[in-house]
Amino acid sequence: MSDTGERQMTKEPMIRLRNLSKSFGDNQVLKGIDLDVARSEVLVLIGPSGSGKSTLLRCVNNLESPTGGEVIVDGERVNRTDLSPRAFQKHLNRVRTHMGMVFQHFNLFPHKTVLENILEAPTQVLGRRREEVTVEALELLDKVGLKEKRDSYPAQLSGGQQQRVAIARALAMKPSVMLFDEVTSALDPELVGEVLRVMEGLAAEGMTMIVVTHEMGFAERVANRVVFMADGHIMEQGPPKEIFRNPREERTQRFLADVL
Ligand code: ADP
Ligand code: MG
Repeated sequence: MSDTGERQMTKEPMIRLRNLSKSFGDNQVLKGIDLDVARSEVLVLIGPSGSGKSTLLRCVNNLESPTGGEVIVDGERVNRTDLSPRAFQKHLNRVRTHMGMVFQHFNLFPHKTVLENILEAPTQVLGRRREEVTVEALELLDKVGLKEKRDSYPAQLSGGQQQRVAIARALAMKPSVMLFDEVTSALDPELVGEVLRVMEGLAAEGMTMIVVTHEMGFAERVANRVVFMADGHIMEQGPPKEIFRNPREERTQRFLADVL
């Protein structure tokens, strides 16, 4: 049986959040989020600024530690509380290798070439052989349309090209989940499409993705489900057409009226 066949048969969600909460001091930012993301699902997360979208994403890979609840990725509890600090760090280093994250600001290593940026984590974190990873890295660069930029430095690239390198760099770890946090928000409008197309291609290949974005056209085309967050709660969710054309909640209607 093919790999995809087996994956589709697995009922267990790729990401499972149970009663997830996160406070910064007395500011409770996530107020008991329950959310499952299925394997190969593309989930688009929308909501007003400050509603907790980035915090939710960052709790999935424990860049922020939840103050309560459970984060389970691919059947494994991420925010374990039963480990010593040292063992927990080791655990995190391992589970994070399965999750790629791309941010609004590309965070490429400025003193490394495009190719070196992509080789960094597989060689340093996974200890893989450089020659072997180079073959894969060049395939990934081809996939994001930047093979000819392998020896360029980030400063020599446009924002859209840098963001495509950041995606390729995340993919080099062969993640089972990709988390995108407003990856096109800082780009000039004419560069947004080339990045969205790469993400659309990934979705078509069956990558499980959570995408925070204001690109409603992308959401409508690519998302299996749109989740609207406000004030640390999930207010409403459903297929993109339903959420965009027929939002039930007044908060969703107001938000969409502002962004659409
Ligand atoms: P969104 O991504 O939806 O705009 P965020 O998750 O970034 O929202 O932020 C939600 C709330 O959490 C905001 O009030 C923000 O100020 C607060 N917040 C986020 N990160 C931190 C942090 N590291 N320390 C303190 N407060 C934070
Ligand atoms: Mg944010």
